[in-house]
Amino acid sequence: MKSIYDCERAELARSLSPSYRSTQIFKSLYQRWLGNFEDMTDLPRAERAGLAAEWDLRLPEVHRRFDSTDGTRRYLIRLHDGELAETVFLPEEHRNTICISSQIGCALACSFCLTGLMGLTRHLSAGEIVTQVLLAQRENLAGELRDSFNIVLMGMGEPLHNYDNVMQAIRILHDPEGLNMSMSRITLSTAGMLPGIERLAQEDDIPNLAISLTGSTNAKRNELMPINRKYPIEDVLDAVKRFPLKHRQRVTFEYVLLKGVTDSVEDARTLVRLLAGMPAKVNLIPFNEAEELQYRRPSESSIARFQEVLQRGNVDAFVRKNRGNDISAACGQLKHKGAPAAK
Ligand code: SAH
Repeated sequence: MKSIYDCERAELARSLSPSYRSTQIFKSLYQRWLGNFEDMTDLPRAERAGLAAEWDLRLPEVHRRFDSTDGTRRYLIRLHDGELAETVFLPEEHRNTICISSQIGCALACSFCLTGLMGLTRHLSAGEIVTQVLLAQRENLAGELRDSFNIVLMGMGEPLHNYDNVMQAIRILHDPEGLNMSMSRITLSTAGMLPGIERLAQEDDIPNLAISLTGSTNAKRNELMPINRKYPIEDVLDAVKRFPLKHRQRVTFEYVLLKGVTDSVEDARTLVRLLAGMPAKVNLIPFNEAEELQYRRPSESSIARFQEVLQRGNVDAFVRKNRGNDISAACGQLKHKGAPAAK
């Protein structure tokens, strides 16, 4: 049976008559949170059984949940083949964030990221991406808060390496008859897959773009992020300069601060020169340490100094708060910690 969450409304409409049934079903699934056709009382009773035989409406199961002392929650979500997707819910007073994965593992092998050590197991389907959002929403946001969240594609995987499924998932989440997520509430983060960035620029509906930089010269970035050997910094930045932005919209650059590797004043100055004049802001992410990785987190004073150099160079820079460290939920820490050794 085909999962209904893999389906855009237009596709559903083509298989249904009258086609507005697809709108009724989308509202039932994404706005009323119904989990079976029998409860969709606006559909003719006679049609419900036929639909139920064709479409799978079940959400995947939460295999485990880890709760951080700071309120962050990490979910291991069991998919139909037993693989586990990781999803993180980050509560904040006015702006909750749901961080979703686009792949199981990742092919890019960035040297400071635990997911990178895993290699790529497989891509996630559109439905497997969409249902991460639905589960995190239903587990955490009831009542009037149900729509108070942003989505970031910053979990496991490189979203632009799974382009078609990721974009399909974004269209489903964006559908006004469904979850109705505005594009300004969705951020796609990429390690710099140039062809994907160029393709994204051509789309009708475009989410916010974040580029993981972490290294301001090709020499440094080649070491840290092997993808830079294929798509060097200057080419990625050229594509970003051409990227269509709305009024006052900016591109986010993520920059991981690694002690003695990317955190010097010289690095900060190079970064200022790279980003000069661009509608950009920088999120500094102090390295999240892990036993398996040899890097260290810089001291608070070098983090502050780095930020200051950017600010003085007129580059807006924010230090990302460390969240969910105690449950391996922070950036770069998603590696199936807590999953059973054998599936
Ligand atoms: N592949 C995409 C999506 C993953 S996002 C991308 O690279 O953008 C994950 C973010 O966490 C990236 O900005 C990455 O640079 C950052 N990150 C990875 N490992 C980290 C670590 N150990 N500590 C802090 N940030 C890390």
